[in-house]
Amino acid sequence: MAENLYIDTRGNVTEPVPFTQAVINGLAQGGGLYVPQNVPSLTLEQICDLAKLPYAERAAAIYKLFDVDMPAELVDSLMASTYGEQWDTADIAPISSLDENTHILELWHGPTSAFKDMALQCLPRFFSASAQLLRERGQLDHEFMILVATSGDTGKAALEGFKDVDGVSIGVMYPDGGVSDIQYKQMATQRGSNVQVWAVRGNFDDCQTGAKNTFNDEAFAQKLAAEQGVALSSANSINWGRLLPQVVYYISAYAQMVADGKVEAGAKIDVCVPTGNFGNILAAWYAKQIGTPIDMLLCASNTNRVLTDFINTGTYDISDRPFVLTPSPSMDILVSSNLERQLFELTGRNPQAIAGWMNDLREQKKFQVDKETFAKVREAFRADSVGDQECLDTVKEVFDQYGYLLDPHTAVAYRAAQNLRGENPVLIASTAHWAKFGNNVYRALHNIAAGDDLPAEVAALSGCQLNELIQKETNASAVPAGLAELDDLDIRFTQVIDGNTAAIEESVVAFVESLK
Ligand SMILES: *Cc1c(COP(=O)(O)O)cnc(C)c1O
Repeated sequence: MAENLYIDTRGNVTEPVPFTQAVINGLAQGGGLYVPQNVPSLTLEQICDLAKLPYAERAAAIYKLFDVDMPAELVDSLMASTYGEQWDTADIAPISSLDENTHILELWHGPTSAFKDMALQCLPRFFSASAQLLRERGQLDHEFMILVATSGDTGKAALEGFKDVDGVSIGVMYPDGGVSDIQYKQMATQRGSNVQVWAVRGNFDDCQTGAKNTFNDEAFAQKLAAEQGVALSSANSINWGRLLPQVVYYISAYAQMVADGKVEAGAKIDVCVPTGNFGNILAAWYAKQIGTPIDMLLCASNTNRVLTDFINTGTYDISDRPFVLTPSPSMDILVSSNLERQLFELTGRNPQAIAGWMNDLREQKKFQVDKETFAKVREAFRADSVGDQECLDTVKEVFDQYGYLLDPHTAVAYRAAQNLRGENPVLIASTAHWAKFGNNVYRALHNIAAGDDLPAEVAALSGCQLNELIQKETNASAVPAGLAELDDLDIRFTQVIDGNTAAIEESVVAFVESLK
């Protein structure tokens, strides 16, 4: 079997690398993103047969299909621990059907109740195993520290994924006072022997800029490598090792729908995804390439509608676009980094075109794709954006109609799906449990306008208490244990640091030294 090597979207990688190296590198040399040389395919029968396997084995089968350069038994055991006891259902990603043609793919049954777990339970295990394999091949001689700047969800999912993983430690920075009570407690109570959490004086932008400057400080990297034997890595959502686990659940979901009699084998479905960095919807596109009978991909945006405008016009423009905070904060993104991979694929893999557009984006804050590429975009995608109030109204409407509580991100997708759908059944990617966003779910259920204050007695509740209240009022399914018990756990991390590069670097060194 020929090895499937990874090339990059901008044509700078002269020697394609194997999966392990692509995972360890994250970003390709020259700033492009890794993509596999070959996208494999499955027959309809092979896809439907996956339903006979437990989820971990479905995932292992897809990884092997991509010819990852790891022994098959290793892939099997990593997947078994990725999709194991830490999930609250053996189905891992169950499908709740609102009606015959509207299906919700619940991607939040993992340890942090957000869909990031689907990939961030998987990537750290493959990252650690990849590093180990590269060490054995004499291609690596150091350990890693993952540095993450987070506005809430990603940080917790990354901490939970990397905790107690061999050869890797993780430090997470969040804006002090800038995350919800639930998000704060999720991070500040984190367990594990290789983890650190810092509150940063400033906003998310300060955290992100601080992290970026630290990554780009070559002298610091050399010092860290020489004195500590450690390299910094980001493990962010452009890593191919985060995308591949997401491809799995779309293929798996289709197989499951057929097995459950929700769709006839071979009948097409549409998939609607609440989109930020374009990773989740790109994964659905790859699932379609592999052979999953997916017709249209429906891209849902919130008020930060840069992707919707791009899909509808062919121009990606952030030159005069304000960044808006919405009830679906994990989609508050202006630079959608995984779109680069999608355009690479839709241009028939033309790295010159991609390099040019990314250059335009850097220099002019916008780019426009050519006519042929735009036609390909229109063939594959439909897009719509959903405003803040519309999002909350949708949470209420769906609850009243079906007794099912959506989180605000999923509500954006549900509304967009209603606006865009045709005849096909729709599979909606549900990216968070409602209890991660209790404030806005409460607003929705009590007809309090988006952005308005909660009543004083409600605002005084902790996140856990508010969720309990909502649960009682709605009789919705129980709040996941990991969220429900947060008030009872000891706060472990209280350190507040400045957001400048020197302060972050000093904290990184102190943390790495503390692990010895
Ligand atoms: C990250 C995230 C998204 C956006 O996913 P992308 O892959 O960045 O498009 C949507 N909803 C939630 C809850 C998220 O955490």
